[in-house]
Amino acid sequence: MADRLQAVKGMNDALPPETAKWNFVERRCRAVLESHGYREIRTPLCEYTQLFARSIGEATDIVEKEMYTFDDRDGRSLTLRPEGTAGVVRAYIEHSIAKSEPVSRWYYIGPMYRHERMQKGRYRQFTQVGCEVFGIAEPTIDAELCAMLAALLQDLGVQNVTCYVNSLGRGDDRTAYREALTAYLEGHVEELCEDCRRRLGQSPLRVLDCKVAGCAAVAANAPAILDHLGEASRAHFDGVRRALEALEVRYEVDPHMVRGLDYYTGTIFELRGEGGTLGSQNAICGGGRYDGLVEQLGGPATPAVGFAMGLERLALVVPGEPETFEPGLDVFLAHHGDEARLWALTTAERIRRLGYRADMDHRQSSMKTQLKRADRLHARLVLVAGEQEIAARKVALRDMASGTQREIAADDLDAEIKRSLA
Ligand code: AMP
Repeated sequence: MADRLQAVKGMNDALPPETAKWNFVERRCRAVLESHGYREIRTPLCEYTQLFARSIGEATDIVEKEMYTFDDRDGRSLTLRPEGTAGVVRAYIEHSIAKSEPVSRWYYIGPMYRHERMQKGRYRQFTQVGCEVFGIAEPTIDAELCAMLAALLQDLGVQNVTCYVNSLGRGDDRTAYREALTAYLEGHVEELCEDCRRRLGQSPLRVLDCKVAGCAAVAANAPAILDHLGEASRAHFDGVRRALEALEVRYEVDPHMVRGLDYYTGTIFELRGEGGTLGSQNAICGGGRYDGLVEQLGGPATPAVGFAMGLERLALVVPGEPETFEPGLDVFLAHHGDEARLWALTTAERIRRLGYRADMDHRQSSMKTQLKRADRLHARLVLVAGEQEIAARKVALRDMASGTQREIAADDLDAEIKRSLA
């Protein structure tokens, strides 16, 4: 027997009714983001590999171990995007957006790819909704992003989410902190995993992000970057906190949070769900400032801040069984005989043009089977017609909620349907 074909490990199909819940979540995301002035950008799934190496950072887990990288037929190295910001920044620079608008608010929704160890809430293809704001250096926008996310989660009925914030400081602060951190880590080198020992000289901050238990224990007592912030960074972070308080966003400072990408500067934040649904993968969303990235990738110096949220994780914490998100059917047309089937076919089309959802059975099914199907599809109304009814230009209209059925003239059908579904 031939091998059974299967989806790639870690890349999942989304089937109905799950897709109905997904679409609901996506629609709410778009509505909330657009209400804040964000406009959608779509970038390719695939970029030249160097874009990710130069933005996310050579010494990060993503670039070192998790990218899907391959040569195309021209021998150029391409990578399936592991996150959205790099491609968006590339597009921002490539299209000289800074010249035509001082502030850009963009959002994206789409699949990302990382060859990660799989567990609940962690996949190799996953979907992120993300926002990027270019051109605003003020701390109030950082807080507005957190408040928008809190509002979105509330709108979706998600409870028990806390916003954690920290600041990674700017260039000078980082240099001072790196020294203090490196000195501390060197004193604990024996307790670190092999990767962290290797990265220690190049990228000591990555140790704070390592998931290995020994490294996490060392990280818990490491010096905090907040104690090494210069005046400007401290003032910015205070500004973020004041704005969060004004917006009444529940938040906590997590002085050990660093996040797994190198491009962050200044404020970083994460929204984590409490209470177990997500297990250890409880980060629903993460983001922060990346004031240096546009320039680093060849664009004009541009302050920027953004976040990305995992839609799979979000859907896991949004309450409601997937079935309840399916739209249901307004009218099912049951028929008996060839003439009646043609009548059902054309009438269904007409009903759809009135703006209702209509369906029928095209097979030669018994009336009983058709009515069962109407029930399974949660149809609100069923129209029943046989040869005699068609000849007499009549049809039976059954209201599935009340179980009542009455005969109506075919000519009155549209008005009767509108009245019954009002
Ligand atoms: P990051 O791009 O790593 O900052 O992640 C931002 C958000 O994307 C996380 O908070 C998760 O919700 C989601 N995410 C990241 N990696 C994965 C993954 N492998 N599987 C599912 N969701 C993920």
